[in-house]
Amino acid sequence: MNSEERVFIGLGSNIGHRRSNCCKAAETLGEAISVKLTNMSHLYESAPWGVLGQRPFVNAVVEVRTTLGPLGLLVLLKGIERELGRGRGRRWGPRVIDLDLLFFGRRIVKGQTLTVPHARVHERGFALLPILDIAPDFIHPVFNVSMRGLYRRLRSRAAVKRLP
Ligand code: ADP
Ligand code: MG
Repeated sequence: MNSEERVFIGLGSNIGHRRSNCCKAAETLGEAISVKLTNMSHLYESAPWGVLGQRPFVNAVVEVRTTLGPLGLLVLLKGIERELGRGRGRRWGPRVIDLDLLFFGRRIVKGQTLTVPHARVHERGFALLPILDIAPDFIHPVFNVSMRGLYRRLRSRAAVKRLP
């Protein structure tokens, strides 16, 4: 793996066995030929956003090294979502895992299918708090603020809790 760029991917699950869905996604990602898993945050639980009446999410962030580009990586993430989302025999079961490309080094991508850094990473405690475990000094390439700094600016910090 020759890329030196630090790539961060957010994992989220609120259906089925949420912890093992996150762990399985991290494992599957690490098994991909062009990806090396280099770090993983603790697991967190967060109240669902937007759509009410859902179970809380389990979230984590992983750091990887990859020889893929941002779009190639997005395709891989979507493939893993599909692979893990087909629950126990049901052909088109609900999506049990959400994989978001949060940062691809300091690259800025603004395309039809991909925006990097992720457009909402700076306002999501469930993404920032896990990143603090593994890269508190990483600088958001658009806002030029560290992950620690972005987290401090958040209003709704209480909604995300580290799982024991
Ligand atoms: P969200 O993660 O914002 O809750 P979804 O997971 O449903 O939403 O993502 C919908 C679409 O967002 C994806 O199909 C993808 O093409 C697009 N997208 C744009 N930027 C990103 C990114 N950085 N990471 C993941 N998906 C992204
Ligand atoms: Mg997503």
